Amino acid sequence: MSLNGKIAVVTGGSRGIGRAVCLALAARGARVAVNYVSRPDAADETVAAIAAAGGAAFTVQFDIGNAAQVEDAFKKILADCGRVDILVNNAGITRDNLLLKLKESDWDQVMDTNLKGAFNCIKAVYRPMMKQRAGRIINITSVIGFAGNAGQANYAAAKAGLMGLTKSAAKELASRGVTVNAVAPGYIVTDMTGELSDELKTKILAEIPMGLLGEPDDVAGAVAYLASDEARYVTGQVLHVNGGMFMG
Ligand code: NAP
Repeated sequence: MSLNGKIAVVTGGSRGIGRAVCLALAARGARVAVNYVSRPDAADETVAAIAAAGGAAFTVQFDIGNAAQVEDAFKKILADCGRVDILVNNAGITRDNLLLKLKESDWDQVMDTNLKGAFNCIKAVYRPMMKQRAGRIINITSVIGFAGNAGQANYAAAKAGLMGLTKSAAKELASRGVTVNAVAPGYIVTDMTGELSDELKTKILAEIPMGLLGEPDDVAGAVAYLASDEARYVTGQVLHVNGGMFMG
């Protein structure tokens, strides 16, 4: 599954799942734009890890929820690299609370980042990928977008919405050789899940048939497959990576 010579953009590539995706794509030969919003140190570390493994990568700062920033950043990447072959919409946030206590700002921030962020980035590569008659867009959704979760109505709605966006974009772009798919992780060990209490983690583990949390590399492997030439006939799909927690 070589990605030699491909240009990839990974949003939220500085940490967690995005970092593992950057490393996996670079290990297969892609040159990777590692996006981050607020942690240049983490993004630099991802780039250094890729370089140490013999790969090529660079950092790019922008807030995916800010359409103007996204447009400018992709213009620059396209000017510098000539093309974007792979877009991984990975960056995401949580602002958890029960609906009763969920603030409008919690709803808006999660929608702006997790759903509108993907829309902004897809818009930025839409025309170039159509012209190339080739491209791979992979959206990182979540098991929560399928199963729902008390305390995560905003997150679940954004991630479920991402599936509608994935399928619609897949239908629009299929005739141009551009595939659009989603990967839905279950519980993966990252900073995001690091915030969960031990009590909650024990409860979650009991719901996972494999009896363990996933690692970022588990998700990265699925993304690398969907980014490859081997996945050329797969579009509008979701690949669940969750240890059997949810079977779609
Ligand atoms: P994480 O460790 O919290 O990392 C989040 C990443 O997103 C960071 O690189 C962060 O950049 C970036 N980011 C946040 N807001 C951004 C914005 N507005 N613009 C650009 N970048 C932004 O998260 P993770 O656990 O790896 O999750 C990655 C994705 O997988 C998310 O979409 C998440 O919803 C999804 N997911 C995670 C799990 C899980 O169990 N961890 C399960 C299902 C789905 P900075 O470093 O600059 O802050």
